Amino acid sequence: AVRVDQAVRRFGDRVVLDHLDLAVDEDELVVLLGPSGCGKSTLLRLLAGLDRPDGGRVEVPARRAIVFQGDRLLPWQRVLRNVTLGLRGPDAERRGREALAEVGLSGRERAWPKELSGGEAQRVSLARALVAEPELVLLDEPFAALDAITRLRMHGLVRGLRGRHHAAMLLVTHDVDEAIALADRIVVMSDGRIGTSRLVRLSDTDREASAAREELRSAL
Ligand code: ATP
Ligand code: MG
Repeated sequence: AVRVDQAVRRFGDRVVLDHLDLAVDEDELVVLLGPSGCGKSTLLRLLAGLDRPDGGRVEVPARRAIVFQGDRLLPWQRVLRNVTLGLRGPDAERRGREALAEVGLSGRERAWPKELSGGEAQRVSLARALVAEPELVLLDEPFAALDAITRLRMHGLVRGLRGRHHAAMLLVTHDVDEAIALADRIVVMSDGRIGTSRLVRLSDTDREASAAREELRSAL
């Protein structure tokens, strides 16, 4: 679903993405880890179409959605309208209501963003991302500002959503446990590239998850 070939992005004389390669399959959730400033958000912005590479190729599906760390809801629009803003057609409202129900926010359609908790606002952001049935969902530290318990609930929510929405997902986080909880595959970025020697494929059993954690620790 995503194919990045030798992508280069420079800011002044600083090379942030240095011939980076990455592929994400349909239906695959890839977690991207890497130190602050290594270029993760830069890569997501390219994939979202918010920025262009200076070199190389970026292939992404037409229907994409991005979720940022902050919720970025429009404060002057009610919750339902925030979810349906990108939709057209007579069934937009129904679809918006369904998306809100999916993230557990039925009944909050008429609330204003400022009336929501941080976790609720992030759930509205997720509903807004998923309502248009994107083929690619980009998540840039979507849960970083949430408390540990709410974050765990969000992980459960994301796992549930994945069964119903067939989309490639690329999630950036600094939280190794979050990476292990959600990823089909973890990739580590450093020196402007994806460290291809640092691919960790995860499976479901706890034993393997803890082995993955050790492998990751040594890679980070
Ligand atoms: P974090 O984990 O802290 O979010 P990141 O991996 O997402 O970090 P980026 O935001 O992609 O890092 O930034 C990578 C580098 O590119 C940083 O050094 C940043 O200062 C630089 N950079 C990003 N966007 C721009 C821009 N528009 N102009 C100039 N420099 C930029
Ligand atoms: Mg970032």
